[in-house]
Amino acid sequence: MLWTAWIACGLPLAAAPWNIIPKPESAEPAAGTFELNRQTPWFADSREASGVASVAVRMLEPAMGGRMPVLRGKPRAGDPPSVWLSTKTADPSLGEEGYELVVEPRGVSIRAPRPAGLFYGVQTLRQMLPPEAFGDRPVADGFLVRCGRVVDRPRFRWRGYLLDVGRHFRTVEYVKRTIDRLASLKMNVLHWHLTEDQGWRIEIKKYPKLTAIGAWRTDGGLRYGGFYTQREVREVVRYAAERHVTVVPEIEMPGHCVAALAAYPELSCTGGPFQVANRWGVFEDVYCAGNDETLEFLKRVLDEVLGLFPSTFIHIGGDEVPKTRWRACAKCQERMRREGLRDEHELQSWFIRQIDRYLASKGRRLVGWDEILEGGLAEGATVQSWRGMGGAIQAAKAGHDVIASPTSHCYLDYPLSAISLEKAYSFEPVPAELTAEEARHILGLEGNMWGERTPEEEDVDRQTFPRLVALAEVGWTKKEARDWSDFQRRLSAHRRRMELQGIALASAAGVRLGDWTPETVSETARDASWPVPRRLLQEGRDLVVEFQYESGLHGLEVTGVWLEVGGRTVAEDRHVGFAGASNRANRYALRLPRELPQGTVVLRATIRSDGGTDSRGAVWLLPSRPAKQR
Ligand SMILES: [Zn+2]
Repeated sequence: MLWTAWIACGLPLAAAPWNIIPKPESAEPAAGTFELNRQTPWFADSREASGVASVAVRMLEPAMGGRMPVLRGKPRAGDPPSVWLSTKTADPSLGEEGYELVVEPRGVSIRAPRPAGLFYGVQTLRQMLPPEAFGDRPVADGFLVRCGRVVDRPRFRWRGYLLDVGRHFRTVEYVKRTIDRLASLKMNVLHWHLTEDQGWRIEIKKYPKLTAIGAWRTDGGLRYGGFYTQREVREVVRYAAERHVTVVPEIEMPGHCVAALAAYPELSCTGGPFQVANRWGVFEDVYCAGNDETLEFLKRVLDEVLGLFPSTFIHIGGDEVPKTRWRACAKCQERMRREGLRDEHELQSWFIRQIDRYLASKGRRLVGWDEILEGGLAEGATVQSWRGMGGAIQAAKAGHDVIASPTSHCYLDYPLSAISLEKAYSFEPVPAELTAEEARHILGLEGNMWGERTPEEEDVDRQTFPRLVALAEVGWTKKEARDWSDFQRRLSAHRRRMELQGIALASAAGVRLGDWTPETVSETARDASWPVPRRLLQEGRDLVVEFQYESGLHGLEVTGVWLEVGGRTVAEDRHVGFAGASNRANRYALRLPRELPQGTVVLRATIRSDGGTDSRGAVWLLPSRPAKQR
């Protein structure tokens, strides 16, 4: 039996939408269907097209139950219906990433001047299939694709996602899955945040202590950490390149480097000793900008990084650098005198300029967070604007390229209560303050997934999706073609695809029951309560209550959660959990009885603020979720 979702719904074929995300430039359905099955040959008219075809048939292999054959050349009359990938016959005006996809009963053709465009045509074709094309179970006979024509190209060239592996380590398998997910959304940059105060995650052969010492910290009395060998890094970069994703490494300097200083304390101003950080925040110990050996060290580290990552853009951080140590350091002060620098901001600029020149001498381009604007911007630098869009405007007006990822719309580690799906979708990367000429400096956008509050992969998924889908469309689709209600309609179809990709989704049905604030908590344990609308209870179903820390210095300790209906306790979960910068067991499962008594519903919990009361957070009711998949 063939998958014919629209027939099953009783819809006439021509009325069925394709639900392509991100929305293409144009998509015109036509009459008829094409059948894709495991015998369907794929033709490719160039070496580049063959490369795309071989990735495409591997992507579809689990759902097809076999690998479709890839042949060189062009289908001839009399051949069975086929998929044809062509770079040679494409319209050059489609550019680096554009494509034209035509589906007819006798065959599919995807034409693009460049292989990235062919690859995106394949991603669109995959979304035209029933959602099971994203699954790992074979479909009986094949899929039907509705005929039509799509012409498409992206609005921005930089459609990125930052994965922070410094705070919590992520496996190579998870990084590869992330790349698959980005590729299926036509995103093309994985910004891999590899070094942090809490861990150095990339093997550097010249400095083995970076990973022998710097990759490990003590967390709750246990040794926690991990790193990628150079062989693993090469494997990730190769895997990403096949999927037209550029991996941009971030090696943080001159701040966020306590893990490196724990390994090589002589690179600091004070000489240490240091321990790999086991709490979150901004640390005063940074690389000494007055010590020539520090610069030498960073250049040798970058030499190895450049050998592993072909990306033109290399991210060097540059954010959140306290100047305390530099002010008190004789070497740093001497550097300032010698170089005629007026203050420590200029010293930071001087430092970034050295690295900018070094990268430029190797044919690469430096990217840094918007703090690199303070004290004067290095000539070749690209600015990633995160503290709002002010840095983006300033840099673009000064003729520098910009990546937009303001905390207001693009920080995926922020809770849904702070950045809703609709808010993410409303993001406009080009500020109104820029002229058309200046706006060309906005290369694109990034969704940033910082890892402090997401110890598990599933947590990262739930923060990332579906908001990253919204940002993918912001990065790809023309501004005037974006439409929130149309996006929601397509997203509801896309959810099934994401589930089949194994993505744990944030629940849109999650409800914020209430909050805690410095005014409502104390350091001694007490009971707190939040009213629960009765409509949220489903008899016989579990409720999941989650305490989500949002800001402040301290966290919330919870010793038990119970649900009262009409004054009677109907469900409880007593365990010690903690919601803070680092969460521990902060979810509570409440099993509701088959029949609920009458009366008002109240959620109660025994809570205590730990170490002080300066924190805020929210109590969320999540629908019960399926058991964790491993
Ligand atoms: Zn110093």
